[in-house]
Amino acid sequence: MPELPEVETIVSDLRPVLKGRFFVDLVGTHENSIIGALDNVASIRDKKVVTVERRGKFINIFFENNYVMTIHLRMSGRIISCDPGDEPLRFERTRIDFNGVSLRFCDVRKFGKVWICKASEYEAVTGISRLGVEPLNGDLNVSGFIEMMKGRKGSVKKWLLDQSKVAGIGNIYADEGCFYAGIRPGVRMEELNEKKLGRLFEGVIKALKQGVKNRGTSISDFQDAYGYKGKNQELLYVYGRGGAKCLKCESILKRTVVAGRGTVYCEECQE
Ligand SMILES: [Zn+2]
Repeated sequence: MPELPEVETIVSDLRPVLKGRFFVDLVGTHENSIIGALDNVASIRDKKVVTVERRGKFINIFFENNYVMTIHLRMSGRIISCDPGDEPLRFERTRIDFNGVSLRFCDVRKFGKVWICKASEYEAVTGISRLGVEPLNGDLNVSGFIEMMKGRKGSVKKWLLDQSKVAGIGNIYADEGCFYAGIRPGVRMEELNEKKLGRLFEGVIKALKQGVKNRGTSISDFQDAYGYKGKNQELLYVYGRGGAKCLKCESILKRTVVAGRGTVYCEECQE
């Protein structure tokens, strides 16, 4: 699933492409994906895009008349920027046309969603209102993180994945962040003292920043808005590497399940 760095990559690609363009139409073959958009398509027709922003794993396209198109890629979604005349892409479910450019929402698993809402309502309708703090925009510092996580009952990974605490972390960056921190994903949060919580914060931030810098992780199917793969998969220490040698100490990486998710860690490097 695309996480913060992957969605940030797409949003930073889309912003210059869409800014100042006018919405033309939205057509989808899978009604479940666009059910939240259909009622308001006419409200944004011929309206200009003001900006494109990310919140958690959501893409928000803001229009001049205070409407917002929100997209969540869920498990396998991609947004590819095309020429309006281009043929449909493989697994294309929805096309979103602007003057001179056409976004193609390709989604093998069909869990992705598009909404069009008034700016005053979109956060509640899409679930954005339930998101926690953004980790990379300066809203979260180490003491805020310690305050938020200290004494929480349950695994470290469970709390890192909880979108109502820190928004945008998924399986990849939770495992990588734990490796950087030297803390096992299955350790209970309430057992971490402030020093270790501080390490966990630094580790997660480092993993996310590296993901953004390398334009996302393309393990299964992530592509940017131009259809190119990210580079972060070449820099992963643990995610997807269970059974392989730790790049730091050469022991065999352990594969397990934490918080219901496949999880990889190093028994030597992580306590
Ligand atoms: Zn190791």
